Amino acid sequence: MQDSGGSKSPRTAPKAERPLDLETNVQFVKGVGEKVGKVMGRLGIFTVRDLLAHYPARHEDRTRFRRIGDLQPGETATIRGRVIAADATRTPRSQMLLVKVAIEDGTGYATLVWFNQWYIRNRFAKLLGKEVVVYGTAEFGNRGMEINNPEWEEAGSDTLSANRIVPIYPLTEGLYQGNVRRVIYGALEKYLPAVKDVLPPTLLDKRDLVDYPCALQNIHFPESMEALASARQRLVYEEFFLLQLALALRKQNATADIPGIAFSVTPECTRAFYESLPFEMTGAQKRVIGEIERDMARPVSMNRLVQGDVGSGKTVVAVSAMMVAIYNGYQAALMAPTEILAVQHYLVLSKMLAPLGIEVALLTGSSRAKEKRIAKERIAAGEVSVAVGTHAVIQEDVVFHRLGLAVVDEQHRFGVLQRAAIRSKGANPDVLVMTATPIPRTLALTVYGDLDLSVIDELPPGRKAIRTHWKTADQRDSVYQAAKDLLMKGRQVYIVCPLIEESEKMQAKAATELADHLSSQVFQGFNLEVLHGQMKTADKDDVMRRFRDGEIQILVSTTVIEVGIDVPNACVMLIEDAERFGLAQLHQLRGRVGRGEHQSFCVLIADPKTDDGRERMRVISRTNNGFEIAEEDLRIRGPGEFYGTRQSGLPSLRIANVLKDVQILEMSREDAFKLLKSDPKLAASGHAALRSEVLRRYADFELVTVS
Ligand code: ADP
Ligand code: MG
Repeated sequence: MQDSGGSKSPRTAPKAERPLDLETNVQFVKGVGEKVGKVMGRLGIFTVRDLLAHYPARHEDRTRFRRIGDLQPGETATIRGRVIAADATRTPRSQMLLVKVAIEDGTGYATLVWFNQWYIRNRFAKLLGKEVVVYGTAEFGNRGMEINNPEWEEAGSDTLSANRIVPIYPLTEGLYQGNVRRVIYGALEKYLPAVKDVLPPTLLDKRDLVDYPCALQNIHFPESMEALASARQRLVYEEFFLLQLALALRKQNATADIPGIAFSVTPECTRAFYESLPFEMTGAQKRVIGEIERDMARPVSMNRLVQGDVGSGKTVVAVSAMMVAIYNGYQAALMAPTEILAVQHYLVLSKMLAPLGIEVALLTGSSRAKEKRIAKERIAAGEVSVAVGTHAVIQEDVVFHRLGLAVVDEQHRFGVLQRAAIRSKGANPDVLVMTATPIPRTLALTVYGDLDLSVIDELPPGRKAIRTHWKTADQRDSVYQAAKDLLMKGRQVYIVCPLIEESEKMQAKAATELADHLSSQVFQGFNLEVLHGQMKTADKDDVMRRFRDGEIQILVSTTVIEVGIDVPNACVMLIEDAERFGLAQLHQLRGRVGRGEHQSFCVLIADPKTDDGRERMRVISRTNNGFEIAEEDLRIRGPGEFYGTRQSGLPSLRIANVLKDVQILEMSREDAFKLLKSDPKLAASGHAALRSEVLRRYADFELVTVS
């Protein structure tokens, strides 16, 4: 695997060489060619520049050798040993060619095994008595320690795949790790002199960042783990910095604060409400309410995002804000992403507010025409203080008497808001958005610009951590039995049926069939009902009400219960074919239990076929922490795939990790804003390279415009 860049050959008289051009088609890079070039295109690599920015997914430190005698089965390690035999045989039945190479290092022997690779035997035949470096996973075989299909190189050569910190690249079909390594190594040797640093030297100094050529070299082939960390730091900084500049440039003409209502905020606004609650607000809830009230008191329209994990108690925080509006003679609206959730909010709010003499109206797409008309009339006349409904309904066709506060429940969707539409509903009402998506503060600020962020980072006291168990399909009977035991003790159970993506109709059919099967074959004598999205609103409403009242013991449902439903006595969440759900979705579903005094359980029935699927089951079983789950989600799916950024309209990031690199994000944000303050259009000659890099990267990138 020696690189044949041949730097030792004497230089011939310089030809009239063209200057090195980073836009050169990748096909012309040494070792690529037309065929491989096409394959690289599938990874978005078209030019030399793209190739150099094809960063390793990770690195492996193969500088330290493990003694063969110390190897444990299952261990992945680098070893170094002398070749003592190389053999090829055919397996008796399948007639596969088996190459076996024995090496020893003075502490023990290991057998290296390859299938159907004849040429490997020939290469090792020439290496008898010589040392090789081998990287792979050890297993116990017939002849002691065996390593199947290892990576290897002759020791002492200028190796790319061993004896160093080795880059592991993202691949696609038709690309091979060793080839990619060699191609990038060669491209770096040749093109690094043409690579320019776009960051101003003052920033590099200030933030102690390595220069770009150094970063590029070390992100691929680092001399040490420290050099790798510095390289990564620099590239992450640059990625965030350029993104912040792009965002800020776009927003330059954005309006400043929008005038709004200055509510009079006094303890009287909320006193009756707090007294009616059976619990005390948590410290985090109080802090967030304080932040909201400060906004509401200012004569500026509020734009605040409240983030809190499922079960953190966002609803009462929102209601507390509504009380301020209502006490000041204004109306409040609560918008939910789905109809089920709107109904749920309506039930919860009516129950909370009725004792205080506050009227709540429900408006959804499928409310009956007459009901809708009456509700709208009452809202327009100001007879109703709180309107609850789906986004579309409230935004489009409701006229408010005097709207003062709009609460948007985004749950984990964290989509693009239509605040302009909400504003047009009244005299610039205050806007409060609630989300369960753990999104770093700076990222939220980046995406939403003028949006302020409050975090409820504490769960109500006394919550018992939900216990999550992953079971396979053949253990289903014992799971049902355990559920029955809890039902006998008076608890209630959710059963979520497998996710069917084809259509709502098929999903509804599957849920109904599962419910029929369970009630006749498994849970005879228990009160079981089904809930799915195709049911009429009144029926859904009825089922939910009866489940809440404890009349229904088992609720078989589609993911319509994913968000918002709150029944403290339900303490089992059983999810069928759990491997079909994403991590965020599983976390949301699980959040439906663990809301009362009883120990709650989440049981995942899953036989995942992929490593990722198994990994998801392990993660969700291990932790209840939404932030950690988001991080793991990100790790499993790879950078740039974070649902929060994808949905919020940010471009995918190559190297930066929005969750882990928050500090660098904050640093770069500060620097980007400072720079633009001194040079708003990046017109200074010293910023020309920076400016063209921002434009090159983000020219065709439509930023979310929120308001
Ligand atoms: P989410 O943040 O997921 O929307 P909810 O607002 O639905 O959470 O609250 C979850 C449950 O916790 C509800 O039953 C609510 O009444 C209860 N709750 C909220 N705040 C507190 C608190 N401070 N102490 C005890 N229970 C609370
Ligand atoms: Mg909620």
